[in-house]
Amino acid sequence: MNNFWSPWHGCHKCSPGCLNCYVYYLDSKRNKDASIITKSKTNFNLPLKKDRHGNYKIPGGTEVATCFTSDFFLKEADAWRKDCWEMIKIRSDLHFLICTKRIDRFNTCIPEGWNEGYPNVTIAVTCENQAMADYRLPIFLNIKAAHKLVFVGPILEYVDLKPYLKTGKIEGVSVSGESYDNARICDFNWVKQIYKDTLKYHVPFNFHQTGSNFLMNGKIYKISHNEEYDQAKKGEEYLRKTL
Ligand code: SF4
Repeated sequence: MNNFWSPWHGCHKCSPGCLNCYVYYLDSKRNKDASIITKSKTNFNLPLKKDRHGNYKIPGGTEVATCFTSDFFLKEADAWRKDCWEMIKIRSDLHFLICTKRIDRFNTCIPEGWNEGYPNVTIAVTCENQAMADYRLPIFLNIKAAHKLVFVGPILEYVDLKPYLKTGKIEGVSVSGESYDNARICDFNWVKQIYKDTLKYHVPFNFHQTGSNFLMNGKIYKISHNEEYDQAKKGEEYLRKTL
């Protein structure tokens, strides 16, 4: 079971992968300005919310995708993050997945007592192209975190992760294409090559979503957003069978 927790909303574009950010796209549909960062009035304390029987609304054992309509390490959220860490610590029965493009802010944003990282927190860093991988991953490999993932998304080219995978510090790699209007192409050959690289270093691999414009065997397929996940799973199965 998976839950989303958005203690704040909105973000600033900071990287090539942000060009067609889905938060901006979806907000624009509701005439909302995604560049305005706001603390959630209703769900800031979601992990601690209880139902009328006194049970936590998010049951133990759930993975909580944290801050997926913003970035957890955004400067504007510095004043709010401490309370989030506290909630994360209290809910040690949940597993929090935090994905960021701002790994260079990580060490200034961790709480006292973080030590080697809370066991119930996975930090995922996004690397949409080689330049971002080569900037962020050396930083990422040196931070303290109990669990580390790499998200190649939205994939903009083949990203050579081999120098980083061989360290043995990365628990998994997930690849995804870009969604919605103006989505840039996700080439299956890039996905295939990254899968091969993960195989070489025995790192778990996941093809999460194809993106809206998926290139395979020389043809571009237009994939509806709802289909992106199933189609990616089919692509992943194909890779597992053939490589
Ligand atoms: S960091 Fe993520 S949420 Fe923020 S603008 Fe970029 S893609 Fe959007």
